[in-house]
Amino acid sequence: MTEPLSPGSTIGIIGGGQLGRMLAMAAARLSYHTLVLEPQAHCPAHQVADRQIAADYDNPSALEELAAECAVVTYEFENVPVAAAEALAQKVSVFPPPAALAVSQDRLAEKTFLNDAGIATAPFRAVATADELKAALAEFGGQGVLKTRRFGYDGKGQHVFRGPEAVETVFDAMGTDELILEGLVGFEREISVIGVRGRDGSIALYDPAENVHRDGILRTSTVPVATPAATIEAAGAATRRLLERLDYVGIVGVEFFVLPDGSVIANEFAPRVHNSGHWTEAACAVSQFEQHIRAICGLPLGDTRRHSDCVMENLIGDDVDQASVILREVDAVLHLYGKTETRPGRKMGHVTRLKQRELPRRG
Ligand code: AMP
Repeated sequence: MTEPLSPGSTIGIIGGGQLGRMLAMAAARLSYHTLVLEPQAHCPAHQVADRQIAADYDNPSALEELAAECAVVTYEFENVPVAAAEALAQKVSVFPPPAALAVSQDRLAEKTFLNDAGIATAPFRAVATADELKAALAEFGGQGVLKTRRFGYDGKGQHVFRGPEAVETVFDAMGTDELILEGLVGFEREISVIGVRGRDGSIALYDPAENVHRDGILRTSTVPVATPAATIEAAGAATRRLLERLDYVGIVGVEFFVLPDGSVIANEFAPRVHNSGHWTEAACAVSQFEQHIRAICGLPLGDTRRHSDCVMENLIGDDVDQASVILREVDAVLHLYGKTETRPGRKMGHVTRLKQRELPRRG
C-alpha cells in the first residue's frame, strides 16, 4: 500500500466534460491540483481545473506531459483509448485500472466477464452477419435488443426486436459487424449501484437509485428504491464481486434490471463516476466525486450513508431554462455544467431535490 497522495499533488483527468468538472471540484476541496486532457478548448472541466492540455486523448506528447506532472491519473469516460491508458500506466498510477476500461468498452467482453464473475446478465450472442442475427433471434424467440459492441451510449446504436422484421435491413443499418444480440428483458425497474474500492481494498456502496430514462437518456434517479431488501443486497453483492475481480480502485456505476420476482441481472457497468450517482452530492456527507478522489489518492473512504431521500433530475437541453425557478425552491441543490451552447439532448446540469428533512421553523 502506497502512502496517501500529499495535498498539493496533481491529479490527471482524461476527459473534460461535466464528470471531469465535478471530479476537479472535489479534488480542489481536498487540496489537490488537477490537469485535464481534453481536445475541446474551454471544456466544462477546464473552467474549474488548474490546467488543460488541449490535445487528443492518445496524443503521445500530451500523455508524456500528463505522466510527468501527475501523481495519479484517472478518467471520466469509458471510451479512453485502452492503449493510451496502458502506456500511461507504465509511468504513473492509473485508476480505475485500464483492464476495467478494456472490459467495459466491449459489451461482449463485459457480459462475458460479468457471467464469469457469477453475475447474471441477459442472455447474449455475438453477431457478425445477418444470418447469425437471424439464428440468435430464433434462439431468443424472435425478440431481443441488438446493440453495437462498442461506442454505444444513451441507447444509441441499438435496435429492439419485438416481433418479425426485415432482419437484413436492420443489420445493414447498424453500420458495423461488431454486434451483440441480447434477450429482451421484461424488467420491472432499472436500478444502479455506485460502489467504490480504495487502494487498500476496502469497499463501500451507496444506496441503489431507481433510474428512469427518456429517449435513451437518464432523466431521474430516485433514492431509496422501492424494492425488497433482498434485491438491494443482491445488487450490492454483485457490485462488490465486480470491484474485487477487477482489483478495482475508484468509483464504479453498475446498472441492473430488477425482474418481477425481485431478482437482479446486470446490464452494464461504467468504470467512472456515474450520472445516477449525482444525488450523492446533495444527500450524503461524501459525494461519489470526493469518494473517487479519496480512493485513487489512497485516502480513507468516506461515509456512503444518505442523510435524505431525494430525486435527482437531469436538466437536458432547454430544461436548463428552469434554473432561475429551481434556485427559488427549498431543498433543491442545483448544479450547472458551464456549457455555453444548449442543444437538444445535451446534459446541461442537474438538480437534486431532498425529501423528508426535518428542518426547524424559521422565525
Ligand atoms: P444500454 O445502452 O445497454 O444501457 O441500454 C439502454 C436502455 O435500453 C436500458 O437502460 C434499458 O432501458 C434498455 N435495454 C437495454 N438492454 C435491454 C435488454 N436486454 N432488454 C430490455 N431492455 C433493454
